[in-house]
Amino acid sequence: MDSLLTAGFRHNSRRLTRFARPQPSETLPPPDPARKYMLYLHIPFCTVLCPFCSFHRVCFEEQKTVRYFESLRQEIRMAHEAGYSFSDLYVGGGTPTVMPGEMAKTLELLRRLSPIQSISIETNPDDLTPGVMSQMRDAGVTRVSVGIQSLDDELLKQMDRYEKYGSSAQVMKRLEGARGFFETLNADMIFNLPHQDENSLLKDIDLLTRDIEVSQATFYPLMSAESTMRKMLRTMGEVDFDREGRMYRLILDSLPDAYHPSSAWCFNRESGTVDEYIIENEEYLGLGSGSMSYLDGILYSSTFSLNHYNRQIAAGRFGISRRQPLTRRDRLRYFMLMNLFGLSLDKRTAEARYPGFFWKLAPEIAGLKLLGAVRDEGDRLVLTRYGMRIWILIMREFFMAVSDFRDLMRHSIRDELDAFGPLETRLPTPDLRPPGTY
Ligand code: SF4
Repeated sequence: MDSLLTAGFRHNSRRLTRFARPQPSETLPPPDPARKYMLYLHIPFCTVLCPFCSFHRVCFEEQKTVRYFESLRQEIRMAHEAGYSFSDLYVGGGTPTVMPGEMAKTLELLRRLSPIQSISIETNPDDLTPGVMSQMRDAGVTRVSVGIQSLDDELLKQMDRYEKYGSSAQVMKRLEGARGFFETLNADMIFNLPHQDENSLLKDIDLLTRDIEVSQATFYPLMSAESTMRKMLRTMGEVDFDREGRMYRLILDSLPDAYHPSSAWCFNRESGTVDEYIIENEEYLGLGSGSMSYLDGILYSSTFSLNHYNRQIAAGRFGISRRQPLTRRDRLRYFMLMNLFGLSLDKRTAEARYPGFFWKLAPEIAGLKLLGAVRDEGDRLVLTRYGMRIWILIMREFFMAVSDFRDLMRHSIRDELDAFGPLETRLPTPDLRPPGTY
């Protein structure tokens, strides 16, 4: 059954991420002035490039990073001038805290421009120092998500993380020190790594939820682009997707009662920000190289070339370079996919947002009920325990398709630059306002 479902979801996910070629004049749609949007910022720099990772990330270089942050702040000002106002912010990477001073300056600018209520930021264990944490807290960060991946020293070595981010004992010590600093401290973990057995996974769960008692733990199934999987074969070994379901059930069965799911893969000890910004925010704007946006039924992607990004911003244009309009049916499916990933779908909200929602998606919903993945509970359609497993599989395929798209974007950086003409003739005088203009 898993293989059949995987094939179906793979086909659909690939279709959704088939973005059109670069459009030189691409721009963002005008915002709805009555709305406050979710903003995603991408910081693509890392000091170590982990072999399993398919995100848009490049090796950290100080000068390059400072230049990038300047462009990013300019793009934020451009979005503000275009009328966008933001209520929530998610900063992902890469490693957003790779230059904490630059990150804090960027957050301060945003808070001056928009009534931001929550700021979630990704980081790595080596940045959980009192200095960096205080700087982030003073800059308004409410949730920190730490990329731990595993607390098994052997696996950390295979992932090239042991040297840079420390042994399991060292990571645990840093997590201890970070407790209570922010409203939410999330531990990002991976399950179904090659060579990860059930005992190793059980130990991770115990250490995080019984020893440290993190406020939130997220367990992602391993999901990388096809090319990354091939590279991983050499460093970490082969991924066995047949074990995924078994390991996921182990997580559900072993988490202490105090932890409640807020999505199929995120578990909260207390109420906190849900891990995936795309669950609570159907529409969001992404800024920075390699970010994605979903606005007015269109998916947008920004350029993956840092040079191109800097030049676009200096020329007064947003970094977006590709778009994928969704059909009416795909928009409904996307809405259902993300809501059920967050465990339930409110029927009245769905009908108000998309009149005729349940009639139009009747075949999909009947299929899910037949599988035992969803059930009616009053005004809500809720995901069952089996449905959570199915959603892990769907989201894995969705994010793997996004990772394959990222691969394609990395490989077409040259084409993208060419499509915008000879760069030398297109560079106007840089117009980067000094921080504090607003
Ligand atoms: S896993 Fe995190 S630290 Fe490693 S390369 Fe990816 S973004 Fe960077």
